[in-house]
Amino acid sequence: MPIKQPLFTIVLSVCSLFIAASSSAAFGQVSPSQCQSKRVKLQMLGTRGPELLAGDTSASTGYLIWLDNKARVVVEAGSGSLQRFKQSKASINDVDLMLFSHFHVDHSVDFPAYIKGAFFSDRTKDLHVFGPSGTQFVASAEQFVARAINSKNGMYPYLGRYIDTNQHSAYKIKTKNIPWSYGDLSIRQVYSKKGIKIQAVPTHHGPFPSVAYRVELAGCVISFSGDMNGRLGEVPNLAKNSDILVAHYAVPENVQGVARNLHMKPSYIGEMAQQAKVKKLLLTHLMARSLEAKDESLKIIKKQFKGEVILPNDLAVFQP
Ligand SMILES: [Zn+2]
Repeated sequence: MPIKQPLFTIVLSVCSLFIAASSSAAFGQVSPSQCQSKRVKLQMLGTRGPELLAGDTSASTGYLIWLDNKARVVVEAGSGSLQRFKQSKASINDVDLMLFSHFHVDHSVDFPAYIKGAFFSDRTKDLHVFGPSGTQFVASAEQFVARAINSKNGMYPYLGRYIDTNQHSAYKIKTKNIPWSYGDLSIRQVYSKKGIKIQAVPTHHGPFPSVAYRVELAGCVISFSGDMNGRLGEVPNLAKNSDILVAHYAVPENVQGVARNLHMKPSYIGEMAQQAKVKKLLLTHLMARSLEAKDESLKIIKKQFKGEVILPNDLAVFQP
């Protein structure tokens, strides 16, 4: 499965943590040939959407990025994905970052369980959490974390010490909102530290603030669409030359109504992957309606996109 790449030494700049909107001018500078693919793995922690599909053994959305055999980035925390994290044999002590595309249940509900589970570890380094800013009706990343665990009125106030600076805890959770708006589609510089660089761009997921991510490490690029309908059209730019693009295939081509406003059609997935010139396309977040239309949708996607297309199972591991 891994594609053999020539190995080059690359020096990743170590910058301080920041969030700022910026232009995309300096974008796409990591060329695929720089990817030290043996150092990087992407593992599936959950490949389904929110449905209760009878007999289905897959978890809701979740991904894990490994660097040098350490689990460094958790992307999304849908229901059941924490169980997969355990099965992956990852250590919670190694995780630097948790990234959320948005705060729907199937992407985030396992978050407090990660934090409670980490209590029993000897974790001491801070955990950085990123997600989109909110609206009047939808919680931002900072609100999501606070509402989950703050000591005063969180759902689980006994975990409040991890965000309360007045209380002692082995580590702190540092949460930052990624500015989301339909009006400013510039690429956001999210994180650049310890060999991992994260960028994000707002996406259109109906009325729910959502972002797509680009993760660069060891010269490799892995991008995540999150849930989106494709209307803003910014992901091909963000995901340019990705070694792997994870796209959420939640609806069939003939989708109508509300679901159309939330999710992208297979034809757009193909178009996006082709425009971005990604090497490998992983289709996840499957639902009953997309599972049923799988063969037809694959044909539609492959008409547009000439690279490798995979429908992975939970726990599957990919090297860029
Ligand atoms: Zn979803």
